[in-house]
Amino acid sequence: MGYFDKLKKAVSGLLPAQKRENKDAPATENITSPRGLPNIHVLATGGTIAGKQTDAGPHYQAGKHGVEALLGAVPTVRGLANISSEQVANIGSQDMDEEIWLKLARRVNELLARTDVDGIIITHGTDTLEETAYFLDLTVPSGKPVVLLGAMRPANAVGADGPANLFDAVVVASSPDSAARGVLVAMNGNVFEARDVTKVSTTAVQAFAAPNFGPLGQVHDGRVFYWRRSDRAPARQQPGFDISGLDKLPEVGIVYGHANAPALPVTALVEAQYRGIVSAGVGNGNLYHKALAALADAASRGIAVVRSSRVAAGPTLRGIELDDARYGFVAAGTLNPQKARVLLQLALTRTQEPAEIQKMFVDYC
Ligand code: ASP
Repeated sequence: MGYFDKLKKAVSGLLPAQKRENKDAPATENITSPRGLPNIHVLATGGTIAGKQTDAGPHYQAGKHGVEALLGAVPTVRGLANISSEQVANIGSQDMDEEIWLKLARRVNELLARTDVDGIIITHGTDTLEETAYFLDLTVPSGKPVVLLGAMRPANAVGADGPANLFDAVVVASSPDSAARGVLVAMNGNVFEARDVTKVSTTAVQAFAAPNFGPLGQVHDGRVFYWRRSDRAPARQQPGFDISGLDKLPEVGIVYGHANAPALPVTALVEAQYRGIVSAGVGNGNLYHKALAALADAASRGIAVVRSSRVAAGPTLRGIELDDARYGFVAAGTLNPQKARVLLQLALTRTQEPAEIQKMFVDYC
């Protein structure tokens, strides 16, 4: 049975982990290859997982080791899959930009179209990992697993977490159960969906959480166990957004809400001719009246304004304390501000119309 047959069987409208006859049976099933192992391609972009600690630490520089060194630290992955790899970038993810996003998305799309690639792993810095994961979630198909991972400790630190996360990512990418769940993130034994995952600690190894809906599953002893399937998972054979003709993305800024927030950050973005503004508002996306007036003015000039929230969990809902229809605003739902920015950038490649953008936010978040 080939990859797609097995895949079809695994995702044919069932909840694989829940409907398996023996729930204790391994959730991992190898896909295909000459050795009977799946073919997994690793794309490396840098981050602390490729970081080098100087002397006794704690100082280190992200993006110093190449992908072969990362794989060399976990030789056991060669027993899980046929691994190939390439270096796409080698940066701290604080320097991630749309040029690399577009390059990465194009490369992932190319690789997914190949019959000799069964899954893709992307090593990435943790700072902006969630944004890249969500960008890919919206721009690549989900018929084969795509899994991002990083590390909180540099490669040569005592207790480096990169090798374990890389091993787990290979396990996740090798499982047909991982297909049609959207882009996934494997960190510290958890598997998260790209839409909900966010970095919640600046330093802890348990740095990621899915604050609204929790992880999709966990990896134990070389097996992935899924506990739920997201109804929002983009189970699509085609990317949600076609980036093939793009060489840049529309400019979208984020303004942070707080007590007594001035109009200035908003007016600066308007003057710089940004096409969209995401508000990281207070509570349910609320706004101090001066910032509200500035955003209302921006929307009246045709700039797309999306209300999200600086609060870690819960949706920003339309028309609760604020009349979004009156101001021409879009409500972000459960997307945090940095992910609302990603979706708004892609939405603006199709339309500037608030009602159409609002529909995309309902569909994609
Ligand atoms: N600054 C690093 C990065 O995002 C942090 C990390 O990878 O954990 O590349």
